[in-house]
This record gives sequence, C-alpha cells and structure tokens, in this order.
Amino acid sequence: MKPLQLLCIALLLCLSAISASANTKAAQPKQSSRVPILLYHRFDARATNFMTVSPAVFESQLAYLRTNGYRVIPLRRLVDWRLGKAPAPPAKSVVLVADDGHRSIFTQMLPIIKKYNTPVTLFIYPSAISNADYAMTWDQLRTLKKTGLFDIQSHSYWHPNFIKEKKKLSRDEYLKFVDIQLRKSKQKLEKEMGGEVDLIAWPFGGLPDQDLQERARQAGYSAAFTIVRRPAAPQDAAMLLPRFIVLDSDRGKTFEALVNPPPHAR
Ligand SMILES: [Zn+2]
Repeated sequence: MKPLQLLCIALLLCLSAISASANTKAAQPKQSSRVPILLYHRFDARATNFMTVSPAVFESQLAYLRTNGYRVIPLRRLVDWRLGKAPAPPAKSVVLVADDGHRSIFTQMLPIIKKYNTPVTLFIYPSAISNADYAMTWDQLRTLKKTGLFDIQSHSYWHPNFIKEKKKLSRDEYLKFVDIQLRKSKQKLEKEMGGEVDLIAWPFGGLPDQDLQERARQAGYSAAFTIVRRPAAPQDAAMLLPRFIVLDSDRGKTFEALVNPPPHAR
C-alpha cells in the first residue's frame, strides 16, 4: 500500500471516530445541574394559613410544568445524584415534596397527583399521625404509599425547634432529645410504613449545626433538607439541601421564576 493510500485510510478512520463521538454526544440528553425542590404544606380553596395553596393553583402549577417540558423526578433520584450514585438528572427536572402530614394532602393533593402521575416525597413527624386533628392517619399514609407515587420520610418525631431546645436543655437531656427526634422517628415510620427511612427535613427550617448533622448521619440519614430558597446544586452539602416553600401567590410569572431561577440564584 502506498503512503498516500495509508494516509487516506487513517484520515477516514479518524473522521469516522470524530463523527461517532459527536453522535454519542448528541444522543445524550441534557442534564440539570440545579434542581428546584418545591415544598408544599397544606391545600385548601380558602387560604387558612399562609402556607395553604389552593388545589386549583397547585393543579395549574403541575399543568405549567407538563406543558413546558419540565420533568417531576422523585426526590430519591436527586439524592442519588448528590451522593454520587447516579448521573445528574435530565434538564428541567423539578422535585415535589410536602411537609407535616396535613390531612389535605390526602383529600386535596392526592387526586391531583394521581391525575398528573407525579412522584412526591412526604416528610412526616409521627407524633401527629392518627393523633392531631389536622393530620392524616397511618392508614391514609399507607393508602398514599400504595399508589406508588408517594415516598414517606422523616420530619423528626414531634417537630421541635432543635436550636431552641439545645439552649434550654442540659447536654445529657439534649442528646436524649436528639436521639428521640432522629432515631425514634425513623423507627416508627419504618415500622408503620415499611421500607427504609433515610431522609429528614429539618423542622422550622433552622439550619442544624455540624454536631446535629453528624448525629443525623449516625442515626442512618443520608440526606437532609432545609428551607433555604434556591435550587439544589452540586456544591450543596447532603445534610443541607435547599427547598422552596411554595405559596398560593406562586402563580404565572412568579412560579415560572421559581422553577427556572436566573443563573446567579445558586
Ligand atoms: Zn414542618
């Protein structure tokens, strides 16, 4: 074979390799580096509480996500990404969560979630369930879980303010209290619901100190959530993942900005 022929063959091989690599790149879906976690609390057509969202507004938000190419991914998918167990979620990913176990999650949120077939993670504090008049029952929570759309995780045992309790209690009392909030909550939820509980949403949004974060890790939690208003990003600590509280006023342009924050809102 003449040197020129060899050169041509080498060039052809090289060009086909470049084109194959370009094709692979084109085939890969775009990935999200920042994912908004939308946090709900309760639903009612009348605003009985500043965190009450009307079912009509909630449905319009899900409709907006659907018609504008957003994907509602399970919180677990985002956690796996943050823990290095999965690649970044697809572009325009959004996560839905709800704190506190209010009964309107069962009566108002469930039908809309079923209609849009979207995953939701609920953060529950067991002391209220089948006990407080505003809260769901264990049977209702089990019904939600059976739909395959709801994951049930921890929101401490009785929704205390860790920062206040730390100031008030002796060291020994505080450690006992932390143990109940972290471990008893996890055990009770696992016993009542089955499955593993390894995520916790900090109550009242107070940022936990390093000691509390470490104790949560030791108690078996792999990720935890705050109410710092920005999308979850790779630089966030797994025990301090941020979430946006959604309000009834988050309609139209306000909601659009929430799920598509400007690049500097890290
Ligand atoms: Zn709460």
